[in-house]
Amino acid sequence: MGINDASHGGSDPGAVSGGLREKDFTLQAANYMYDRFKELGVPVAITRDDDTTLSRAERLSTMTDTFGNDSKVIVLSNHINAGGGDSYCVVL
Ligand SMILES: [Zn+2]
Repeated sequence: MGINDASHGGSDPGAVSGGLREKDFTLQAANYMYDRFKELGVPVAITRDDDTTLSRAERLSTMTDTFGNDSKVIVLSNHINAGGGDSYCVVL
């Protein structure tokens, strides 16, 4: 079982370069992975499936509300970083 986290989102674009925003790519990757895990019968939850701003606490709540504090839960937090610039990522 796992949690699929689309990092950033909403007012937090993540890395930005030439009109490309990290949040858009992480959402696309997370939605693809979420659908694929479901197809394979893997119990999975997703932190966001649209362009929503989520706090770290809200991301963590999705995890604990879905699977509790089970030590067997795997969290996949998608990031697509860029070299240089002023962006940063917070890893859960
Ligand atoms: Zn990031």
